[in-house]
Amino acid sequence: MENRSLMAYDSNNIFAKILRGEAPCIKLYEDDLTLAFMDIMPQADGHVLVISKEAAETLLDLSEDGARACVVTTRRIAIAVKKALAAEGIFIAQMNGAAAGQTVPHIHFHVIPRTAGAVVRMHGVERADDAGLNAFAAKIRAALADA
Ligand code: AMP
Repeated sequence: MENRSLMAYDSNNIFAKILRGEAPCIKLYEDDLTLAFMDIMPQADGHVLVISKEAAETLLDLSEDGARACVVTTRRIAIAVKKALAAEGIFIAQMNGAAAGQTVPHIHFHVIPRTAGAVVRMHGVERADDAGLNAFAAKIRAALADA
């Protein structure tokens, strides 16, 4: 059963623009239903976002097929990030609604490598430089290709 909210989807949000090719992203993976790219304000090195290609604001708005595809891609990315960053653990986060901390109104999953004791940076605050992001992206793409 589907549980669509009554909220209108804002097609001008930054992830919708990335999906339409109107804004750049450091792409890692794409299939018919999902897209994965580097978070430009990473909470840890190797922080990746997985988004649905559906025009859905939250997980509650997403179709069940879209939800399944996001989880499969998130798992695939998590395996690659863990290998590429030699991460001890992988934190998966997914916020629904501003009250829950969602800042971009398009469904997405965070994949964040974690190491015991390492501080996680603030959410969406510090813009990383593109050279560093591209270097981590290259490692993650290599791990994806190996999988
Ligand atoms: P949330 O607060 O859960 O909606 O997360 C939104 C995430 O999107 C934050 O971690 C931001 O750093 C990230 N973000 C915002 N704009 C961009 C962008 N243009 N490219 C990549 N990541 C972005």
